[in-house]
Amino acid sequence: MTRLPVLGIDVGGTNTDAALIIDGEVAGVAKIPTDPESLVQSTAVAFTEALSTAGRIKKPLELHLSTTLSTNAIVEGRGDPGMLYVTEHLVLPILRDWQPHLIVNAAGQDNHYTDPLTNMNFTAQGYARLTQMLAPGIVVLEGGYSIEGALPYVNLGILLALAGLDFGAVREPDWRPDVVAQPREISSAIARTVAALQDMWASRRDADLEAMFGAGQFFRRRRDIYYDTDNIAERQNERIRLCEACSGWRSIQSEALHAFSGRTVRIGVVIIPRQACRQCRMDAQGELERLSAEVRAGRLNLTYLQDIAGDS
Ligand SMILES: [Zn+2]
Repeated sequence: MTRLPVLGIDVGGTNTDAALIIDGEVAGVAKIPTDPESLVQSTAVAFTEALSTAGRIKKPLELHLSTTLSTNAIVEGRGDPGMLYVTEHLVLPILRDWQPHLIVNAAGQDNHYTDPLTNMNFTAQGYARLTQMLAPGIVVLEGGYSIEGALPYVNLGILLALAGLDFGAVREPDWRPDVVAQPREISSAIARTVAALQDMWASRRDADLEAMFGAGQFFRRRRDIYYDTDNIAERQNERIRLCEACSGWRSIQSEALHAFSGRTVRIGVVIIPRQACRQCRMDAQGELERLSAEVRAGRLNLTYLQDIAGDS
């Protein structure tokens, strides 16, 4: 199986996530703060960032056909109409273009209207209808914190829809139309975002990849990531080999300040992609040796090797 789009449903009140999968592996991800005032802007940044992770890709068609959307165009106050609008007008047309072998719905349920951590208004009926429209081969329960208020109803709705059975009677006991209503301005903001993303998808083959990723041997980027659960501020310097034969090995040097302990940890990571060419595999081993020497010299604390084909 070489083509595997994954649709992730995630709560977008805080962050916008994008994932790019090439040849069955994650080639690029992005997590950027959602801008509720300008969804087009923050969504576009997430998309560009996810693409930039993948390095320069010689076959634009391959890149674009492999692009999967984990779209968080649905943020605070969004309910069933918004979710279903995005599915109908953006996700399904892309899937029709792409003709996937398998659709996986990462069905997180923290966007349910009873979820204590989020401010979205998705319902069991909405989930069931989404499942019916998307017709996924696999549905994975990814999360959700309203254990009694959401999960039994949502999962029943999903299961009935997957089985092709009538889900019309599934309703949460505390469901109220005014609670799950979606304001008109949110509906129009969603429609504008979807229109911008439709344009982006339609013009994807015109993208100047060399302008995005450069023409050198490596694509370089720096990322600053803050992990709010553990109060860790990390800076990553990443190099991605722009290889014409495979998706290219990667080297990441990371420096993370663990604010609770006051410790700074420096690590080096080498990633060998699943279908790495011989040269990339050898070069990645060389990079690992170089990083290991940095550990011996006391400039790095640790090195990690991720050999994706060997790990799985
Ligand atoms: Zn290669």
